[in-house]
Amino acid sequence: MDLIKLIESRLAEGNDDSFYILNLEDVRLKYRLWMEKIPRVVPYYAVKCNDLEEVLNTLRDLGAGFDCASKKEIHQMLALNVDKEKILYTHTAKQISHLKYSAEQNIEKITFDSVEELEKIKKVHPNAKVVLRIRFDAASSIINLGIKFGCDPIKEAPKFIELCKDMNMNLIGISFHVGSGTQDFGIFERALATVRELFDFAATIGFKLNFVDIGGGFIGENISLLDNYAKSINTGIDKNFPSSNEVEIVAEPGRYFVDSAFSIATQIVLKKSGTDGQIHYYLNESIYMSFLIAFLYKSDLKFTIIRKSKMENETKSEKLSTLWGCTCNSMDKIMGDCMMKEMEIGDWLIFHNMGAYTLTVSTKFNGFENNKVFILK
Ligand SMILES: *Cc1c(COP(=O)(O)O)cnc(C)c1O
Repeated sequence: MDLIKLIESRLAEGNDDSFYILNLEDVRLKYRLWMEKIPRVVPYYAVKCNDLEEVLNTLRDLGAGFDCASKKEIHQMLALNVDKEKILYTHTAKQISHLKYSAEQNIEKITFDSVEELEKIKKVHPNAKVVLRIRFDAASSIINLGIKFGCDPIKEAPKFIELCKDMNMNLIGISFHVGSGTQDFGIFERALATVRELFDFAATIGFKLNFVDIGGGFIGENISLLDNYAKSINTGIDKNFPSSNEVEIVAEPGRYFVDSAFSIATQIVLKKSGTDGQIHYYLNESIYMSFLIAFLYKSDLKFTIIRKSKMENETKSEKLSTLWGCTCNSMDKIMGDCMMKEMEIGDWLIFHNMGAYTLTVSTKFNGFENNKVFILK
C-alpha cells in the first residue's frame, strides 16, 4: 500500500520515472544473521556492489569494514569517517596514483597476485601490509573472477611468499575470492585448507602470517543459503585455524548485504502486439540502467505487477511476451519470450532482489536514468 501511495504521489507531480525502493532493515538483518552464524569472520563490505551512502553508513555503524578497489572508493569511505584500519585495498592491478593515495592515507592492507605488482607496491607503498591473493574458483558462480585475479596456490604462491622475504615486504596473509554468487558451498572449507598450507610454508621461511580474507561470493537473494556457507566456513576455520587469537579472519561480501534490500519500480510505457504473436511491452528501465548485470549474466528476474486500475480483477491469462528496455538499441531487452500475465500501459512492475551491481553500473545512455532511491528506514 505504501508503494502504491508513493507511485500515485509521484505521478501526481508528473514524475513517471522508474525508481528504487530500499529496505534498510533488510541490510541490518543480514548483518545480524552473519555475525550470529559466522562469528569469527568480520565482513568487509565490497563497496563496488552498491555504494549508496545510507547502505555504507548503516554497515559502518554496525561494525563492518570495507573492501575498496580504487582511489575514489577509498576516498568515499574516509569521507564517511570509516576507520583506516577498517579499509582493505583489494585490487591486484592498481594505478600508481591510486596506490600513492593509499600510501598517503595510510591504508595499510593491500593485495597483490604478481611479482610485478609487488614491485610497484615496494616502490610506492613500501610499508604496506601485503596480502597475497590466490585463485580458488568455485565449481560454478555467476561471475568467475579467477580468470582475471589470483595467483596459482601451488605453482606461484610459495614463490611469491619467498619473494616477499627477499624484498623485505611485510606479508601478513592470504586472500581469495571463489567467484561472485556461488552455491558451491564446500569451496570455502577447501580453500581454507589451502590457506593453512601456505601459512605453514610461510612459517618455514620466517613469516608469521595472521590474516585470512575469504572474499565474497555469497548469494543475497535467499537468506536460507547462509547456513550452507556458514557450515563450510566454520568447519574450515575450526580445522585449520582453531585458535581465535592467532589469526584475524575477514570476508568481502558484496551482493549478500544488498541484493534483497532493493526493489525497482518500472512502468509500462507502451504495449503492442507483434506480428510474431507475442505481446511487446516497453518499460522505462533498461539494460543500460538497472538490468545490465542481469542481462550480461542471464539472471532470473522476478517481478510483481501493480495494476494501474487496482479495481480490475486479476484473472488475466498468461501470454507469450517480451519486456523491452527504454533505449533506442534493440539489444536492450530485459526479458524475452516469457509467459506473463497480460498487462496494460501504465501498470507498474516491481522487480525484486535488485540491490547488487545495479546502481553502481547504471548509465545515462540515451537520456534515461534511474537515480532515485526511496528508503524505508
Ligand atoms: C566484487 C568483489 C567482491 C564482492 O563479491 P560478491 O560476490 O558481491 O560478494 C569482493 N571482493 C573482491 C575483491 C571483489 O572484486
